[in-house]
Amino acid sequence: MVFDIDLIKHIYQHYPQKIDLIRQKIGKPLTLTEKILYAHLAPGEELKNYKRGEDYVNFAPDRVAMQDATAQMALLQLMNSGRDRVAVPSTVHCDHLIQAYKNAHDDLIIAESNNQEVYQFLRDVSNKYGIGFWKPDAGIIHQVVLENYAFPGGMMIGTDSHTPNAGGLSMIAIGVGGADAVDVMAGMPWELKMPKIIGVKLIGKLSGWVSPKDVILKLAGILTVKGATNSIIEYFGEGARSLSATGKATICNMGAEVGATTSIFAYSKKSADYLAITGRQEVVDLANKLIDCFNPDSAVLDQPEKYYDQVIEINLSELEPYVNGPFTPDLAYPISQLATAVKEHNYPDNMEVGLIGSCTNSSYEDMMRAASVINNANQLGLTVKAKLIINPGSEQVKYTSKRDGILNHFEQAGAAIMANACGPCIGQWRRDEVADEHKNSIVTSFNRNFAKRNDGSPNTYAFVCSPEIVVALSIAGKLSFNPLTDNLINDKGQKVKLQEPSGDELPKRGFEVDDAGYVAPIADGSLVEVHIATNSERLQQLAPFSPWDGKDIISQPLLIKATGKCTTDHISMAGKWLKFRGHLDNISNNMLIGAINAFNQKSNSVLDTQTGDYIEVPALARKLKAQGIGSIVIAEENYGEGSSREHAAMEPRFLNVKAIVVKSFARIHETNLKKQGMLALTFVDKSDYDKIREDDRISITGLTDFMPEKHLTLTLHHHDGTIDSFAVAHTYNQSQIDWFKAGSALNKMKEQFNE
Ligand code: SF4
Repeated sequence: MVFDIDLIKHIYQHYPQKIDLIRQKIGKPLTLTEKILYAHLAPGEELKNYKRGEDYVNFAPDRVAMQDATAQMALLQLMNSGRDRVAVPSTVHCDHLIQAYKNAHDDLIIAESNNQEVYQFLRDVSNKYGIGFWKPDAGIIHQVVLENYAFPGGMMIGTDSHTPNAGGLSMIAIGVGGADAVDVMAGMPWELKMPKIIGVKLIGKLSGWVSPKDVILKLAGILTVKGATNSIIEYFGEGARSLSATGKATICNMGAEVGATTSIFAYSKKSADYLAITGRQEVVDLANKLIDCFNPDSAVLDQPEKYYDQVIEINLSELEPYVNGPFTPDLAYPISQLATAVKEHNYPDNMEVGLIGSCTNSSYEDMMRAASVINNANQLGLTVKAKLIINPGSEQVKYTSKRDGILNHFEQAGAAIMANACGPCIGQWRRDEVADEHKNSIVTSFNRNFAKRNDGSPNTYAFVCSPEIVVALSIAGKLSFNPLTDNLINDKGQKVKLQEPSGDELPKRGFEVDDAGYVAPIADGSLVEVHIATNSERLQQLAPFSPWDGKDIISQPLLIKATGKCTTDHISMAGKWLKFRGHLDNISNNMLIGAINAFNQKSNSVLDTQTGDYIEVPALARKLKAQGIGSIVIAEENYGEGSSREHAAMEPRFLNVKAIVVKSFARIHETNLKKQGMLALTFVDKSDYDKIREDDRISITGLTDFMPEKHLTLTLHHHDGTIDSFAVAHTYNQSQIDWFKAGSALNKMKEQFNE
């Protein structure tokens, strides 16, 4: 047993009394989100009705989870925090660093050899600080958390943006940067702006080709990539209760794609069934006594418009399968409209690869339903036209699927079964066929489809959908195929039609696994030595960032004025760069190389005003830094959308960028910037973005009087001698201003420990 039942007993003790007290103090019926958030107020935090979307509140989460790519920086910071043991149960999951190429066996041997230094570091630090360690091939962080640690009414944070996956088991689970994880692991309060709450009422029932994934794909089309920023999405209604626990997790997982802080479903019989079959009957016995605590109050359900900030209704009975993309997860096409879109937009109709897996869609139910389509195709005399690649979500799912003959269906169809890891979802995919960067389509059961994310090619058009639709389109080899209406021609030249998918939500014979891949920390880690070689390319001790010099920012050059989407993939690419996630200097060589320069529409090509040449973004930043000069980054909407990787905030800080000024920020990234002591500012008037010229010198004044809710002033000194000046806004509260002044939140934490 890897979960700690005593911890859960402790958390559940007095839960009903807490909820009663909260209801009394708040003076109104409670949503599920409010029950769990208020039950996790940090000690000393006042119990009162906090203003949603405005008030910053300190919380005390129950757990922390970290994946290997972000854990390196989080643990390097933990080592600098002055603590010797984590204050809450925490885990590290080795899932991001395994490249998919041939098959699980061969790829793992290479990954373990290539990443040996990093895996050893993660294992040593885990042992030293009392952190649970999940070995390479144990599974993808969120699937492993769902199978082992998520519990109703709990609260966790994770250094990965899809941490909300655990909301499928009624847990408030929030993606954060490593510095936030360090706060919680160090026993400090963890701060969050009290989120708004979007209620999504699900009515009706899924059937046929439609799956839980389609709920969130449709919602992404409604809300767009930033429609739920600073909000928690709470699902309710009879349709919500009808979904499997893993289906609910899929929906919560992809709430990250609409910018949601997290997403959550109420506790139901389906939750209990999943907890029980994954070895947590004791949690079920306890949670069943607290059902009212893990559901919204009935008065909320009677008048949802009164208690949620926004209510959206989706009828599952009328839902169609969706295929979203390319290049953004909110471009939502019901499958009946996809063929037209393919023609209209000239998307490559030839579907080259279908990918199944990722933390989003790799449950037993997903595997079985997808396999049923393959099996049916086989019976009909159809072959799979596209290449099929499977990354199971965990060793437990893989082992059980193999036992039950599910993997066999895929293997017989020629699918490559890769390691239980992220693989192509995070660019860890050696795809030799796109070396020429030819235009092609791929369809995945993943959650994100930003340009270059999967195979590094800008000409790969990636679409996301359910695993069963991935398989259907892979069989047809055509993006424009609609399995609900279209026929295929079999090996006898006959017209045939695929049957609707079918499958069990949970394995009839229960889950089974030989070695789940968990390594518990040793009881006393005080003598464990953590070794970082001084000449290592992969790991580097962190030096603290310098405190603020007490002065305004005066006459700094523009580094880049980015145009269009600028996700964390654009700011700090994954793929081949993942290997430098523990080495700030080395990874800074990818800073903003994917961002498009507004002045020449090129990536990684910015004007060096000293020479008149266009050079690479990191090269310009390094050149200026070496001369003791800072620089300014300008960008558009939802800057930093996507991953929680704090490297996207640390790299500019390391390369002496003084401020990031944008039209709007994605939540996690804005917090990451603040935590690293960076200035994160927004245009008060978004049209001021247009005033910025390529050879401007930029001043930001008002810092000597930096205070909450008070604008700063940005002045553009144009090359022709003219000046533009306008207000820029910020969302720093007093403690975040203290982080800025100290140089970083970590510096401030150390100051507090030393006081
Ligand atoms: Fe891994 Fe992809 Fe899930 Fe991120 S979204 S945890 S890269 S599988």
